[in-house]
Amino acid sequence: MRVFVDPDLCMGCGVCESIAPDIFELGDELHAKVILDPIPEKYRYVVEEAIAECPEVAIQITEE
Ligand code: SF4
Repeated sequence: MRVFVDPDLCMGCGVCESIAPDIFELGDELHAKVILDPIPEKYRYVVEEAIAECPEVAIQITEE
């Protein structure tokens, strides 16, 4: 699975990182970065939770 954070939509709130710190990282950036690529299938549940909780709808699964 591959995941994309749209930097034009992301406001850097950190919700995704708090839900899935193995996958998303803010660091010093203004928007979240995906730090695992590809993402192992075992993370699907937390990825879907991060997608559901992102207030800007900035996270997408780009490849199953
Ligand atoms: S939850 Fe959404 S808006 Fe917030 S940092 Fe993550 S991708 Fe960006």
